[in-house]
Amino acid sequence: MSQHKAHCSFCGQEQSPDLPLIAGEEGHICEECVRLASQVVGSWGRKRAAAKPLQNLLKPAELKAQLDRYIIGQDLAKETLAVAVYTHFKRLSMEQASPKMPVCPQDVEIEKSNILLLGPSGTGKTLLASTLARIVGVPIVIADATTLTQAGYVGDDVESILSRLVDSAEGNLELAEWGIVYIDEIDKLARAGESSHGTRDVSGEGVQQALLKLVEGARVKLSAKGAKGQGGDLMLDTRNILFIAGGAFAGMEGLLERRLGSGGGGIGFHVEPAIPGSGHDPMRLFEAVQPDDLRHFGLIPEFIGRFPIITALHDLDESALLRILTEPRNALVRQYQRLFQFEGVELTFTDQALRLIARQAIERGTGARGLRAVMEGLLRKLMYDIPSIDGAKGCQVDEQAVLGTGEATIVTDRQDPLASCVSG
Ligand code: ADP
Repeated sequence: MSQHKAHCSFCGQEQSPDLPLIAGEEGHICEECVRLASQVVGSWGRKRAAAKPLQNLLKPAELKAQLDRYIIGQDLAKETLAVAVYTHFKRLSMEQASPKMPVCPQDVEIEKSNILLLGPSGTGKTLLASTLARIVGVPIVIADATTLTQAGYVGDDVESILSRLVDSAEGNLELAEWGIVYIDEIDKLARAGESSHGTRDVSGEGVQQALLKLVEGARVKLSAKGAKGQGGDLMLDTRNILFIAGGAFAGMEGLLERRLGSGGGGIGFHVEPAIPGSGHDPMRLFEAVQPDDLRHFGLIPEFIGRFPIITALHDLDESALLRILTEPRNALVRQYQRLFQFEGVELTFTDQALRLIARQAIERGTGARGLRAVMEGLLRKLMYDIPSIDGAKGCQVDEQAVLGTGEATIVTDRQDPLASCVSG
């Protein structure tokens, strides 16, 4: 009898009450082998998908046009990023196309174009990086430099970024190796190191050194625990991962003004620089950033050297915020309109109301991030009340409703129009 006991044709394990087998025409398979096979087959599919970003590589102008659909203004940063990303993936696609003829290492070595984005909080740095990754079709991981620690300390160690990148590529290592790592608040990472005065450098220079290793290109061993769906440890090559670092670098203006000899004393992104001949365009000031300026923020020269492309995002003024409210494909106003639509209600704003929302967001000093907070505060009560109002079909928000001196107008199909007092 026992010689008729079935075995898994893949791993050889014998069938038992704990190990049921699926029978095929000529063999059997156990649950574990089914899973393994599924992973293998899945990775074939993803390997094919991995080639996609390099197949239909958009030209810089096309990339910029795509970015324009989601991000308002910031043309300089968009163009710089479009070129950097195009160059990066072009280089990879050339290597892919003719692996026997790598891009002439003995002749001209094309350096990886890691990018440093400078700009105040809420001006679109993270949005730029994540939108680019989506357009190009590569995985992205967004890490906060202030939470990074050297291996062995409590916190996220630098390698954990890579595990998250592999997760974001759904376990596909090839795709992860072409991914984008965005490290936010890079200026604060260095600052944290500075303030620790070398006593216990949990997040300062040691982290920069660890990051540097990844940015330069290393084969990093990741524990299987970090990246899901894989058995055993994984090796990830970071040579082709594009690193984008972002930071507000508050106080940079003062530094630049001193270096450029204007003697202007203001600090803050709202300050009109007084560089001779620069006009009064704050963007021009940041164009003058030199790698050396970044050393004042505690970034080590080797680290700065690995980010050859530096570009700046500028503060968003009222008209930019107004456009952000309404123009991008997933603009906030559209999002809320959709939410109200679920209740059969058409949500509208007067021009004055929108302008006021933009102004209130500026007062919060958190860039476009303030818009959501203002909108949330404004519409929270309406969103609470409207589902309970019978026959509601329209809601108009005007200046008074934004100011809190009046209410939004609710239109119902029973009583047109009904000025209803629900906001505030
Ligand atoms: P940060 O510069 O701090 O990384 P984010 O990119 O996270 O800022 O922006 C926060 C939010 O503000 C984004 O999710 C987006 O909704 C909005 N936002 C910021 N800048 C822009 C912009 N230039 N165009 C459109 N939306 C923007």
